[in-house]
Amino acid sequence: MKEHFYSSTWLDRSEERRDDADWLAACLADTRTRVVPVWRQRSLVRMTDPVRAIEITIDNLQVQPAADDLFFLGIDVERRACFGLALADAGDASLEIAAAVGGEFTDLRRVGTMLEARDAGLLAYARAITHWHSTHRFCGACGTPTEVRRAGWLRICTNPDCERQHFPRTDPAVIMRVVHGDRVLMGRQAAWPENWYSVLAGFVEPGESLEEAVRREVREEAGIAVGEVRYDSSQPWPFPASLMVGFSAVAEEDTIQLASDELEDARWFSREEIHDGVEAGTLRLSPTLSISRHLLDVWLDGADS
Ligand SMILES: [Zn+2]
Repeated sequence: MKEHFYSSTWLDRSEERRDDADWLAACLADTRTRVVPVWRQRSLVRMTDPVRAIEITIDNLQVQPAADDLFFLGIDVERRACFGLALADAGDASLEIAAAVGGEFTDLRRVGTMLEARDAGLLAYARAITHWHSTHRFCGACGTPTEVRRAGWLRICTNPDCERQHFPRTDPAVIMRVVHGDRVLMGRQAAWPENWYSVLAGFVEPGESLEEAVRREVREEAGIAVGEVRYDSSQPWPFPASLMVGFSAVAEEDTIQLASDELEDARWFSREEIHDGVEAGTLRLSPTLSISRHLLDVWLDGADS
């Protein structure tokens, strides 16, 4: 199984501890416990080579965090509890913390490629869960404020007539390598850097299977009918809340019709064209840490579909 960048399988999520108030309280008094702060969706890093995620010990926090702002992430390989911490948008606490540890808050997207996989997974996880909390402070059904339960894995509506439970969500998107004969389909959006092409992707819609989403997106974006669809692998993509679900698919035709406004261009590429284009600098591909590039590289290395 391909374990993609931004995943965090090394962290034991210890779901059974989320309701264990005594154990969680002991963790928050334990100097071994690690806290991963997030401020305005930015992650705390040290700009070394490689860039490192900064995990703070609980006694080095500078601020007394509210229980509502701390979310239990899991237990690391050294058996230390890890928590995500959502810092207030006002910057004082975050500046103090960054100064105390010699780091800075930055957008994970900006430094992703400079991180080691372990750190990238931890920061992606903390960013994803804190983002969900920041956008679910109020009940989506009745508009009343919600409160945190289960160490961050549930928010409950405080309106006694509602009490709706809200669970952390992730938004599935499909990303697919579509092949016809010995060519692969790639497209580009107008806003992308010059010469940049990628396999196609799009969000899954309500009431739709992943396979349907693959077929619909390829038809919508390139006017191509797709036959066989096979699952490949998936990648957390917390910018802000996606899970990229990767597929390989076989096209039933090769006449491209750009149907929507989403793509500026879509083309079939042979392996040779990709190789030559990259060599000549006339073709740019997604970064190697992305599932987009993985799907392409597997095919470049010889997969048929
Ligand atoms: Zn409610």
